[in-house]
Amino acid sequence: MLFLGTYLNIFLIIFEKSFLEFNPLRKYLSLVHLINIDFKYTGSQRNSNFALSNFNYVINAGEFISILGPNGSGKSTLIKLITGYLEPHKGRITLKGKNLNEFDRKDIAKIIAYVPQIPNSIYPFSIYEIVAMGRFPYLDFTGFEKESDKKIIKNVLDLMELSHLINKGINEVSGGEAQRAFIGRALVQEPKILLLDEPNSHLDIKHQISIFNLLRKLNRENDLTIVTVMHDLNLSSVYSSRVTLLKNGKIFLDGDVNHTLTPDVIKEVFEVNVKILANENNPRSIFINPDSNLE
Ligand code: ADP
Repeated sequence: MLFLGTYLNIFLIIFEKSFLEFNPLRKYLSLVHLINIDFKYTGSQRNSNFALSNFNYVINAGEFISILGPNGSGKSTLIKLITGYLEPHKGRITLKGKNLNEFDRKDIAKIIAYVPQIPNSIYPFSIYEIVAMGRFPYLDFTGFEKESDKKIIKNVLDLMELSHLINKGINEVSGGEAQRAFIGRALVQEPKILLLDEPNSHLDIKHQISIFNLLRKLNRENDLTIVTVMHDLNLSSVYSSRVTLLKNGKIFLDGDVNHTLTPDVIKEVFEVNVKILANENNPRSIFINPDSNLE
């Protein structure tokens, strides 16, 4: 299917929007391509051992990808390269067949929305302001929201169960509510790809499930491509169509859940022993086996 995606991409460059909208095979188009990327942090804080070298990666339309790997394996770096927040030293990144660095920032924001990890201190914007910021790429020079923008913001506030909190400051709500506001900000951008960096880190189990159910619904019903950095192997196992495992800046393994999240692979990547339970009635569950952890 990867080859098919590549050929369709060439057509996409020619016919752009109309082709994407009417093409029944749009699920197999590659939206993002990282081609022979070299990247290393520079400056005083740099970690001299970490680098992405000759790194290749494809994100196809319609996928729900979990990016997993130990701390420092390069998950956030990969996400930041895809958003254009970091620039590679070598190689190129394409978005819908066009070089990422040829896009206007506002046009990238209409295709890719990024939900970062929530910073510890944030300027005390209200919940409404945080969510409304996502419409910025669509505003004209006056900077005022039109009725259509306000309608989209309202719908997303309802969807994220934030309507009763619109006047609260972002620092006055719980971590989970703040997390939902940042996801809401990304959704009002009406993106084709949603990139999330550990979206469940501030969510209790009920909200983790409701957010991931919502992401799955948007993925299946609205063709929103989802790429999320995760630590929770169980959530990844239940919701992802594809798992990318990173280790030391390299792709260790990439594929569907059954081929990637196996005890052998998890042991190799995370250095823990696990047991996996799955049957017709239960979702696949991965259990840590503390007695047999590696030394
Ligand atoms: P992960 O998301 O898998 O935990 P990151 O992509 O955040 O990993 O980081 C990969 C490596 O790059 C780590 O060793 C980290 O210390 C280093 N790193 C991350 N951000 C910076 C930065 N801004 N400057 C220097 N080194 C960084």
